[in-house]
Amino acid sequence: MEKLITSNLKLGIIAGGQLGKMLIQEASKWDIRTFVLDNDETCPAGSIASHYVKGSNVNYDDVYQFGKLVDVLTFEMENVNIEALKKLKAEGLKIVPDPGILELIQDKGLQKEFYRGNGIATSDFRLYDTVEDILAGIEKGEIAYPFVQKIRQGGYDGRGVAVINDESDLSKLLSQPSLVEDKVTIEKEVSVIAARNQKGEIRCYPLVEMEFTPNANLVDELICPSSVSIEQSEKAIAYASDIIELLNMEGLLAVEFFIDSNGGVLVNEMAPRPHNSGHHTIESIITSQFEQHLRAILNLPLGSTKLKLPSVMINILGEEGHEGPVMYEGLMESMAIEGVKIHLYGKKITKPFRKMGHVTILSSTLECAKKKAEQVKQLIRVKAWTKN
Ligand code: ADP
Repeated sequence: MEKLITSNLKLGIIAGGQLGKMLIQEASKWDIRTFVLDNDETCPAGSIASHYVKGSNVNYDDVYQFGKLVDVLTFEMENVNIEALKKLKAEGLKIVPDPGILELIQDKGLQKEFYRGNGIATSDFRLYDTVEDILAGIEKGEIAYPFVQKIRQGGYDGRGVAVINDESDLSKLLSQPSLVEDKVTIEKEVSVIAARNQKGEIRCYPLVEMEFTPNANLVDELICPSSVSIEQSEKAIAYASDIIELLNMEGLLAVEFFIDSNGGVLVNEMAPRPHNSGHHTIESIITSQFEQHLRAILNLPLGSTKLKLPSVMINILGEEGHEGPVMYEGLMESMAIEGVKIHLYGKKITKPFRKMGHVTILSSTLECAKKKAEQVKQLIRVKAWTKN
């Protein structure tokens, strides 16, 4: 990537959410010129990108024309127009990760077939096109309660997932083509972020443990290091390395796992990009996931993934019952606590459960970081600002 040393490298990022913003913050350290494509002029990354381009991530022409402006193209979300990416690739543009990988991962059915085909442990599943097919599958005994239905494309943050415990839940079935899988008795949910460059060098981050907000299916706390056993940790890291190698992928791959009640390590899903479960890496790991993504996609040496300090990450979410111009409470009081690092994404409007920012709490012991996280949770409130 000889252009890097001339300060002339033009990096395109599809979508300008908080992940794009944090990627740009790293890119600016190396004087990379960043271009961001997003329909919303007020998106988090828009104001700090070298160039903001208005357009949609799913529109063929918008993505194609955007690709023509840059030397290297990457993305901060999976929902991107694949046909435009394929055309740009055919015309010689460097797109990382490769559009073929995005195409596989966009479809949860293909993802599951990939795991099964490569001997990677995942809950047992079948694919169905319609609700009628699922009902027929139950009749035939192909499907047993309890099970989980997931739409193959377009789901996120638990939207597009239906948990069916018994007959009384059947009205929750979703009508799109979907996969139906065994419901896992989940003890823990953990994630591993792996990075790989063109030379084939691979580095994985230590496992993080995710705890979810009961009603919103958003991560409530993200804990690093996790409390799983060394064997489970090694297994998850080995799976993440195998997957990124099998995909022959360049970039970052976040792999989410379930630890089940028998201690088994099952892959749930993956995302080929910087990930929410890696926010803490900015402060708690020697190389942040955003710097690592740049190193990986530009074929630079990968950085150390060693933990500097234990950390707890909490999301700053819009308060229920509040929608409108954002107003934060408790930031100063939180900052006064040692080891508390606040990130605000710059979204002007708050909505219930909208991800408005996050806080990473660092301490020499995890126990202490957890206590401080509880304090911060009580202090920070995201409300809508109203004129009196
Ligand atoms: P999304 O891509 O929308 O985040 P996930 O596949 O991560 O969807 O599912 C959302 C949540 O639903 C998971 O974090 C987990 O708590 C629960 N879940 C998903 N699959 C299963 C399963 N097979 N068994 C039990 N719970 C599940």
